[in-house]
Amino acid sequence: MGSAERYNALKGIQDIFPPDIYIWQKIEKIAADVFSVYGFQELRAPIIELTDIFIRSIGETSDIVEKEMYTFSDKAGRSITLRPEGTAPVVRCYVQNHLYNLPFPQKFFYSGPMFRYERPQKGRFRQFYQIGVEAFGVADPTIDAEILSMLRLFLDTIGLKELSFEVNSIGCEQCRPGYRKALYDFFSNKFDNLCPDCKRRFGVNPLRILDCKVDSCIELRKGTPRVTDFLCNECKEHFHTLLFLLQTLNIPYVINPDMVRGLDYYTRTTFEVTTEHLGAQNAVAAGGRYDRLVEEFGGPPTPAIGFAIGMERIATLLKSSQKQEVPAPKVFIATIGAPAEKEGLVIADKLRGQGIWVELGYADKSLKSQLRRADRLNADYVFIIGDNEINSGIAKWKRLSNGSQGEISMLEIFDFLK
Ligand code: ATP
Ligand code: MG
Repeated sequence: MGSAERYNALKGIQDIFPPDIYIWQKIEKIAADVFSVYGFQELRAPIIELTDIFIRSIGETSDIVEKEMYTFSDKAGRSITLRPEGTAPVVRCYVQNHLYNLPFPQKFFYSGPMFRYERPQKGRFRQFYQIGVEAFGVADPTIDAEILSMLRLFLDTIGLKELSFEVNSIGCEQCRPGYRKALYDFFSNKFDNLCPDCKRRFGVNPLRILDCKVDSCIELRKGTPRVTDFLCNECKEHFHTLLFLLQTLNIPYVINPDMVRGLDYYTRTTFEVTTEHLGAQNAVAAGGRYDRLVEEFGGPPTPAIGFAIGMERIATLLKSSQKQEVPAPKVFIATIGAPAEKEGLVIADKLRGQGIWVELGYADKSLKSQLRRADRLNADYVFIIGDNEINSGIAKWKRLSNGSQGEISMLEIFDFLK
């Protein structure tokens, strides 16, 4: 080995390891359980795709495409991008594999890392994890309500409270032109004061200006025409039906007419779940309808809706609001001397074969230090084996949780634990 060099993970990218990993596993388990009672099945799409897949779907003027994508050329010179979000790959997979031929509607969930070159800060990373869902084939707002009810059940089951559901409708291709025109008119005499990004957005997609985080643009936005005032009759009815269904399901919501979301593919329903407990990065989940996207990927006209949950933000909330549960071994076998260590290994092997978590004390450590380790691991039962125990076939046991103790034939340990 040469001189020791220190390597660190890339900026804005974190490792996840015990004990935090148990929170992550809990979130993933609850998500899979909750989503499955709504009929969602897991889908695993790749992490890398052709760059074009994201540009076309997310939109050229979105923050993601303008400045946040991890894009590189592969050895054949193709432009490849690490997925910045999960919907475009799922839609690509849906169309490529003709999943629209499956029984209708098709409902999927996914989880995994996403990559965005953002300024790292609290709640904002360059590699972050999302759990997301996508439902294909239903235009009826009933499924919008189901999706929001599923998100609520997930958050409830996980034990998160004081969350706010913000909803909006950003209309369809019928009402969008009217709203775009109103935005052109509104921003045209403010153009000179827009930030350089928004000057560009003005020409391509003025909706994006509503998403800009630059202070002067936020100031200029006061009194912006509201998208909900420009909805066509169908979109209006769709939105009102959704609101009615949310009331029916007792899902408390707030209408936020300024929420246009940062991705171009959205149509009609958009929503965000926010919390007051995370500071500036306050959105824990977000989503909406994307009724045109499947067609844009070359599939049949297929309305669709989905959301994505930000794992890091959920994990942070759980960490600060709940006692962390760390799993503990059922059995710790402390051993004194080589023959006992061998016997301990054999017993451990049998118990593990029965699905019992066993930790072994290694006889090169003193009994005292082995027991200290059992204690630190929070083992339920400790068995102690030495030469005497091997000769008599009887081991001493102690239960750490309540201090009870006794002796047991080594042949009967499994039955005893049962
Ligand atoms: P934000 O407004 O926080 O940038 P966004 O509109 O970019 O969010 P989406 O692309 O809709 O977010 O992603 C859905 C969720 O994923 C967000 O609500 C958030 O919880 C999480 N998320 C997005 N970007 C990051 C990131 N860089 N680091 C950690 N979590 C993120
Ligand atoms: Mg963002």
